[in-house]
Amino acid sequence: MSKEVRVRFAPSPTGPLHIGGVRTALYNYLVAKKNGGKFLLRIEDTDQSRYVPGAEDYIIQSLKWLGMNIDEGPEQGGNYGPYRQSDRKNIYKEYVDKLISSGHAYYAFDSAEELERMRDRYKAEGVHSPKYDQSTRESMINSLTLSDDDTKSLVNKGSNVVVRLKVPKNEIISFSDEVRGEVSFQSEELDDKVLMKADGMPTYHLANVVDDFLMKISHVIRGEEWLSSTGHHVLLYRAFGWAKEIPKFAHLPLILKPNGKGKLSKRDGAKFGFPVFPLDWFDKKENELFSGFKEDGFIPEAVINFLAFLGWNPGTEEEMFSLSELESSFEIGKIIKSGAKFNYEKAKWYNQQYIISSPNETLAALIQEDIEKIGGVSVDKGFLTTFCGMMKERVMTLKEFSTKGKYFFTDDFEYDVKTIKKKFKIENGPHFEKICNSLESLNTWKSNDIQNVIKSYITDNELSFGAILPILRICLAGTMKGPDVFQMMELLGRQIVLSRMEKGLKFCKTTIS
Ligand code: GLU
Repeated sequence: MSKEVRVRFAPSPTGPLHIGGVRTALYNYLVAKKNGGKFLLRIEDTDQSRYVPGAEDYIIQSLKWLGMNIDEGPEQGGNYGPYRQSDRKNIYKEYVDKLISSGHAYYAFDSAEELERMRDRYKAEGVHSPKYDQSTRESMINSLTLSDDDTKSLVNKGSNVVVRLKVPKNEIISFSDEVRGEVSFQSEELDDKVLMKADGMPTYHLANVVDDFLMKISHVIRGEEWLSSTGHHVLLYRAFGWAKEIPKFAHLPLILKPNGKGKLSKRDGAKFGFPVFPLDWFDKKENELFSGFKEDGFIPEAVINFLAFLGWNPGTEEEMFSLSELESSFEIGKIIKSGAKFNYEKAKWYNQQYIISSPNETLAALIQEDIEKIGGVSVDKGFLTTFCGMMKERVMTLKEFSTKGKYFFTDDFEYDVKTIKKKFKIENGPHFEKICNSLESLNTWKSNDIQNVIKSYITDNELSFGAILPILRICLAGTMKGPDVFQMMELLGRQIVLSRMEKGLKFCKTTIS
């Protein structure tokens, strides 16, 4: 029987979750769902110096917003907890002790100055980038060079003690990566990584491997930046005697800047004018707001679809995949090796597709708060629903409903003066007034009737549509852009239409006089 699929998303709460991290979470989630497995959230917070309050909650809220349900994690619990590494300190101590007794790890007592001196010494001898490794460890202050008694007394003193991995000599460490294929390291290339720091906290490497083993993780799916650490991880599995339990590895390609030059960074959002975070994040230290996809008006399903395709595709022309469709279609084998360029236009395109296919009532609920800010009053649900139906093909983000459709909710808008100057003829003034009179006496206020009245007036008086309709629209909305003008008039209601016509015509007259 094959092993149960158990995958984990293991972020460090050092700040908001970057969109690349969200994609890592998504691919893990999809692999779990595809295989009927479990998706775990493990908070890797052993580096106290980089801990940022609020970051863990931000990560959890982001996954919730995107609809990635966590099976086991700090909030959900589970049989393999705790799921926050700072709560597992004792576990790591036990495992590090095992490595020391079996000779796979050793204590080291070198101070920062001693490490510095070592580097200078080897550099002077021509070593390009000296490391604490099999070629240097014998010249350092550690349990390999000190007597047992000296080691004991330094360990008991407890200051400045770290535990390092004793990388074996002459070994080839290879593993097969699901994305990159065969990867191997020569043990000489690997340094003796610190496993336990002086503060008694494990480093990422130790905690990560111990937890993946104890939590029975079947696939380690993470960013490419961790590929170079995997050699050490494999050595740790071997040292613990878990070589048969090594999980499958899949290292995901980088997400690149839109121009393809380098990794997409958190600063690129502000630079290129798009979000690189799922939710807004206010950075207290830098006193700066980093915008999120949610607040910028994205629908979570669109973000999911977009991210899924940033480094993966099903090998067909099909581009629209809901989360549940992705759950059944996703395959690790189809992850693309090369970096994926972040294409914001594509993200907006996806968002537009999801907006168009969303029911109007759903959209109304999503934009209500934003819309009510325009006039500061509550807006009728029915009105909002019809508005969404009229506008949804014209917007790319939810935010644009309020920016592009502002005039549906307020009389306070600017007129497109350029078009007024081009299209408004003073001699047509009386025609507009007559049209308004007919609208005033219209029996039913329905778009078809409104259209009939206006169009017949135009033809009966041998006018051109171009002389009347653009000005009509500008009086009502300020702009030439918008949905069908007659439907718009029906929704705005007779009273508003007539008062805006009066005000608009006055403006037109003064503009051209
Ligand atoms: N804590 C690591 C990070 O923040 C996790 C890497 C891994 O998944 O092994 O990216």
